[in-house]
Amino acid sequence: MLEAYLSLGLRLKKTLFINGVWQDSTSQETYSRVNPAVLEEKLGEFQKGTALDVKKAIDSAEDACSKWADTSPPERAKFLLKAVDLLVRQKEELSQIITREMGKSLSESRDEVQQAIDLVYYIAGEGRRLLGHTTTSEKTGKFAFTLRLPIGVVGLITPWNFPVLIPARKIFYSLVCGNTVILKPSSEAPMSACQLMKILQQSGIPEGVVNMVTGPGEVVGNAMVTDKRVRLVSFCGHKDTGSKIMRDAGPKRVSLELGGKNPLIIMDDADLEQASEAAVRGGYATTGQRCTASSRVIVHEKVKSRVERLVVEKIRKLKLGSGFDPETDIGPLVNEKALNKTQQYCQIGLEEGAKLLVGGKPPAGLKGWFFEPTLFTDCTSEMLICREEIFGPIVAVLSARNLGEAIDLANGVEYGLSSAIYTSSMQSAFTAVKKLQAGLTYVNHPTIGGEAHLPFGGVKYSGNNRESGAEGVNEYTELKTAYVNYSSVAGLDVNRGAP
Ligand code: NAD
Repeated sequence: MLEAYLSLGLRLKKTLFINGVWQDSTSQETYSRVNPAVLEEKLGEFQKGTALDVKKAIDSAEDACSKWADTSPPERAKFLLKAVDLLVRQKEELSQIITREMGKSLSESRDEVQQAIDLVYYIAGEGRRLLGHTTTSEKTGKFAFTLRLPIGVVGLITPWNFPVLIPARKIFYSLVCGNTVILKPSSEAPMSACQLMKILQQSGIPEGVVNMVTGPGEVVGNAMVTDKRVRLVSFCGHKDTGSKIMRDAGPKRVSLELGGKNPLIIMDDADLEQASEAAVRGGYATTGQRCTASSRVIVHEKVKSRVERLVVEKIRKLKLGSGFDPETDIGPLVNEKALNKTQQYCQIGLEEGAKLLVGGKPPAGLKGWFFEPTLFTDCTSEMLICREEIFGPIVAVLSARNLGEAIDLANGVEYGLSSAIYTSSMQSAFTAVKKLQAGLTYVNHPTIGGEAHLPFGGVKYSGNNRESGAEGVNEYTELKTAYVNYSSVAGLDVNRGAP
């Protein structure tokens, strides 16, 4: 396994994939990445793509567009099935690449690749659905229906925290819907993206249908966003980057999946053991680097001290280390910037008057970008640690007197991605499902963990789209309305009613 990884990481220097050919950037410049758990371990050299490289990739995607769009959806889906077969066979290799380049534990990486596999099976099925609808018409002798058509060239910009799942989701929906693709993967996780591209290449997808340009977001991403031939930009990443992309893109379609400040509500009638476990899983899995991480725990005041005791006990048992160690619960942060940011928020929390219960510093004896799982309590909704996405292992505890107050606290941030409530009351559970301002609400379940056939996405500043499930095709198709007059009279009274 290690050999396979080495062959990819150290020999694959041509990390641009354009028109079916692996190539160097026109900049002739590369950058390197190290293993975030073992900083002396260099992972490889990756191309710093340029605006010219992006132009070449768009040319290639545009040339391939009409033939791919004319390939029937079930035929397109056959390529997806070949690719998923390769994903299954290369699951272990891909999982190891993820762990090595972004640090999550190997079991989490395996889960990620499995989620991608499940999703691609699901998406391939869309090749036989892509449903429009028929409806009645105002006129006798007129037939009306909608159909789904490809958008054209799509630009996909992805983050590093799910470096296989998120690019896979965006690429495979794009493909089954008949679009051609340019992927701009995160510079922190280019190896996973390269391996995914290799799988697509091996699956025989025609040249030019899928392309990839690695390199800095402000250059490569921006060149995709601002080129009018890219009809859709589908972005996943930080809220501020998404806002900039929205501004730069002008009137084209922009689909955004952004961050979260996800609340986990624990009521006084909850199973506190399970709820505490959920707080730890949801807060610290992937070192808190999940868009759905429960970074706020809102506890009923009657059970606050018991919950805190249970959570602290569980945190103390977590083992930090390399994701390759089977004992490891928590890997490193992705890079030095993330470590510094986490440290700064810890400092801010202390200055704001939050009480540190556990953690708050890098662990002794580990040389990577590690930070101890950290729990603050006595937090208030105005504190920055309760409002801003930290994307690190910091969880803030707030207390509420009743469900209404808990929901108000939960909703009092600009984000709205995931949310959860632990309660034994059906009334509280359904009230929370209805009232929490979030794209996802879990009952007696952590804020993390989606399923392939259900839509995923946020409200408010957490984004504007839904991917996964049947709704995923909405993001990657144009919905056309067709009116067919089959009567013997000319349908000339067209100026009535709608524009
Ligand atoms: P990021 O916004 O820094 O980068 C995301 C991508 O955008 C990268 O590929 C980057 O190179 C590119 N980029 C940067 N500047 C750009 C620009 N000016 N124009 C075009 N592209 C540009 O985010 P990140 O650090 O990679 O990922 C973490 C963020 O992603 C968190 O906020 C997290 O919540 C979010 N996220 C959201 C979801 C979701 O489904 N909602 C899933 C995973 C991660």
